[in-house]
Amino acid sequence: MELYKENQLKIYNSLSKTKEVFTPITEGRVGMYVCGPTVYSNVHLGNLRTFMSFDMIFRYLLHLGYKVRYVRNITDAGHLESDADEGEDKIAKKARLEEIEPMEVVQRYTVNFHEVTKKYNFLPPSIEPTATGHIVEQIEMIKEIIEKGLAYEVNGSVYFDVLKYSENNHYGILSGRNIEDAIHNTRALDGQSEKRNPQDFALWKKADERHIMQWPSPWSDGFPGWHLECSVMSSKYLGEQFDIHGGGMDLKFPHHECEIAQSHSCSGVQPVNYWLHANMLLLNGQKMAKSTGNNILPEEILTGENKILSKAFGVGVVRFFIMQAHYRSILDFSDEALLASEKGFHKLMEAMEVLKELKVAKTSTFNVTDWKNKCYQAMNDDFNTPILIANLFEAVKFINQIKDDKASITATDLELLQNALHVFVFDVLALVNDAKEQSSDKLEGAVELLIKLRKEARENKDWALSDQIRDELADIGIQLKDGREGTTFSVN
Ligand SMILES: [Zn+2]
Repeated sequence: MELYKENQLKIYNSLSKTKEVFTPITEGRVGMYVCGPTVYSNVHLGNLRTFMSFDMIFRYLLHLGYKVRYVRNITDAGHLESDADEGEDKIAKKARLEEIEPMEVVQRYTVNFHEVTKKYNFLPPSIEPTATGHIVEQIEMIKEIIEKGLAYEVNGSVYFDVLKYSENNHYGILSGRNIEDAIHNTRALDGQSEKRNPQDFALWKKADERHIMQWPSPWSDGFPGWHLECSVMSSKYLGEQFDIHGGGMDLKFPHHECEIAQSHSCSGVQPVNYWLHANMLLLNGQKMAKSTGNNILPEEILTGENKILSKAFGVGVVRFFIMQAHYRSILDFSDEALLASEKGFHKLMEAMEVLKELKVAKTSTFNVTDWKNKCYQAMNDDFNTPILIANLFEAVKFINQIKDDKASITATDLELLQNALHVFVFDVLALVNDAKEQSSDKLEGAVELLIKLRKEARENKDWALSDQIRDELADIGIQLKDGREGTTFSVN
């Protein structure tokens, strides 16, 4: 039987602002859309945290036995510098500054995003569509919204009519923003603006001739508004109504609110059943900003090459650190916090090693079944990873007691404990045992040194020493193989 049948998963839904029992539209299947990166710079640590939260959620849903279609897009056009549909396209601006093609910018930072997410042990999404790959579908959706009378064209640009939409629908349903407040609080339109009302947003923007990224449309040569791509790609791959939509808290307004308005205008139904928002990450108690130097790249944590850090940290430690906070809580990143997490992480990894060689007894002094249920309860309560980790440390304590003969475990319970720990530590939290990787790097270094010494011995015709190195390594299971390209080794 699939695990989801015996686990009642509850998810905090930003739309209803309550925890709700998760019931997918189609039994056994989950459609999940997460707003992906705008690929105009290296992936930001705050974004990495958001995507890691959804990686954990994706992994847990898979573990429960759901067939998950996880769509995470790449924004490679249309994202302007300001939410008010003004300023330059972020990618075009970078291309202009670096004197390269916009698609070179897109390629460079898409590759960076994939490298970083791979290093951090993310599962790839099922589909990773791009905005530029869906221009035709975006034009079709704009036509549909115009036909419904909810968008208007001005000078080759098309805007969504928020006031008109609000006559029969609730704009602000997700963010809680009141339409009247929005009108009062948005600065008055200057004479230049084409919008009927300040809260309207662009579905299509006419491009001036300097704008490199532009496509033909019935209205003008131009480009789609940023909010539109997510409505188009989510409905194309997941349907008019799907289960989960995720993203960073900062996307709730206006991006997600606009997505709902666009999708709802076309389909007449609420597009998403569960809206999930991951909270932000602070660096040393403050918002990250390149301008103040309070900034760090995910890659720099792994190399230690940033003045904020005292040393390099492994992927396992960083994932463990991020998972120690609930995805809806603000997380403060600092060197001290990572150092503290590293201690805990090593303790957990040591216990995972001890676990492999525990002696079994006729009785267990720890209720493994109860403990395992508590782990599931934590995850079923809106993916509460900090509580899960607290439970994992209860098991660590028990494992160390068995090792010191202060507790005992039966063979059946040991198997149960090993399996459950493996699932939560490696499959769901996806922690990587860097300590083990580091020791294999050290082994490689040591064997390379012996190969070098053996080569010197042979050059000096010291055959006895050369053979001794080869034979004694073979005795401990390390085989040397001499070939044309030099000596290689394998470990049995
Ligand atoms: Zn989006």
